[in-house]
Amino acid sequence: MAQLDVMDKIVSLAKRRGFVFKSSEIYGGLNGCWDYGPLGVELLRNIKEEWWKAMTYRDNIEGLDASILMHPRVWEASGHVENFTDPMVDCKQCKSRFRLDILGEMIQEKKKKKILESLQLDGDFDKLLEDGEKSSLLLAEINCPQCGNKGTFTAARNFNLMFKTFVGPVEDGGSVVYLRPETAQGIFVNFLNVQSSARQKLPFGIAQIGKAFRNEINTKNFLFRTREFEQMEMQFFVKPVNDVEWYEYWKGERLAWYKSLGMNESKLQFHDHPKNKLAHYAKDATDIEYQFPFGWGEIEGIHNRTNFDLSRHEEFSGKSLKYFDEEAKEKYIPFIIETSAGASRSYMAFLIDAYHEEEVNGEQRTVLRFNPKLAPIKAAILPLVNKDGMPEFARNIETDLRKNFKVFFDDKGAVGRRYRRQDEAGTPFSITVDTQTLADGTVTVRERDSMEQVRVASTQLKNYLVEKIQL
Ligand code: ATP
Repeated sequence: MAQLDVMDKIVSLAKRRGFVFKSSEIYGGLNGCWDYGPLGVELLRNIKEEWWKAMTYRDNIEGLDASILMHPRVWEASGHVENFTDPMVDCKQCKSRFRLDILGEMIQEKKKKKILESLQLDGDFDKLLEDGEKSSLLLAEINCPQCGNKGTFTAARNFNLMFKTFVGPVEDGGSVVYLRPETAQGIFVNFLNVQSSARQKLPFGIAQIGKAFRNEINTKNFLFRTREFEQMEMQFFVKPVNDVEWYEYWKGERLAWYKSLGMNESKLQFHDHPKNKLAHYAKDATDIEYQFPFGWGEIEGIHNRTNFDLSRHEEFSGKSLKYFDEEAKEKYIPFIIETSAGASRSYMAFLIDAYHEEEVNGEQRTVLRFNPKLAPIKAAILPLVNKDGMPEFARNIETDLRKNFKVFFDDKGAVGRRYRRQDEAGTPFSITVDTQTLADGTVTVRERDSMEQVRVASTQLKNYLVEKIQL
């Protein structure tokens, strides 16, 4: 099966089974925005919940939920107003807009070589394309990938990715605010509030889950690059001399988290950023990458942000953000180790990773092998037939389990087909009420991946599931 076919199948399953829909679909959709359906919202919540538990059920990390709109000076201090830009070009003919680096990726290597030769230029095509002087020379030789015309591109311009809006009724410069492009700044500006209210000492962290918005020029690959998405970020404040140690610690912890939730180890890797390509604030940076059907892509960034953020906020706000280290009897601005994961992007990775097609007794089955903790529905309750008291018995089990788990009752059609529907939704356990149930109170529990069935006393079901799911 070609890798990109898999992607199509997953997108179609996501829609058919209610994981992900296009935003405003009946109006033709809104580019870069997606809605999470009944199964999807459960999966997303479970991912966030597992992250929240892993990150904040510790004595040295506190939670926070900061507002999306912040004082506009925040984004000046952070560098976003000035630097959060992508160079882009427009095709004057067909009006398509391209991010310059992505335009570069769209051109075949052979073609690049030819253009460089014809212009008698040496060097790396992609780098030259972003080099002010050479850029327009190269652009004049490129055919627009959309309409095919040559020499129709505007010069490259910087495009700020922040969404702008206004507070209050007057839409003027004085009322501009931005939809946050990352959750991190809400944490930085609250550093001392959290530290003093929670009486924390360094090293400690602040964790937050929330929406972020980026006016991405090219949205593509389903949930990978969207304009509205969710981040799960944690900023860990450390004494400057301990930065390297904590950076390594968080690298290990974060990779282990994906593995602990069943993500295929061979599809995960670190991509360390070379020192000469680090962002202006970073001393060290790595991406945790997942091997998507379209190639390796970042799902989380881990950065040593030094004291850049707090120093800048100190400078721009005029308020001291220094920490008083009682043991060392000194004041300093802490270094920050950041772990910044995309909830929506890792959602996509978990979904793709779980997707399997297999043949069972000559029949094809599609199964989402989610770790039970992430599975949208934990158990399906299926009366074998719709008579002899089986539906009533099954309904009682449903009522009982519903107090603790998201469960699903299904009494329609052949049981084999009902199992397949649950496989496709990633439900780890299917509980069937049959003739024997009526005699001895036991039910069969079928496990999704092995398809093995065991008999369990219906009174023990809750304990059985708790143990298996390890809630
Ligand atoms: P990229 O280079 O892919 O645009 P980035 O390096 O700008 O990503 P960060 O700013 O480090 O990303 O953001 C941290 C995480 O937030 C990313 O690892 C990713 O999971 C998520 N993320 C960032 N931008 C988007 C987006 N447009 N859509 C979905 N998730 C995103």
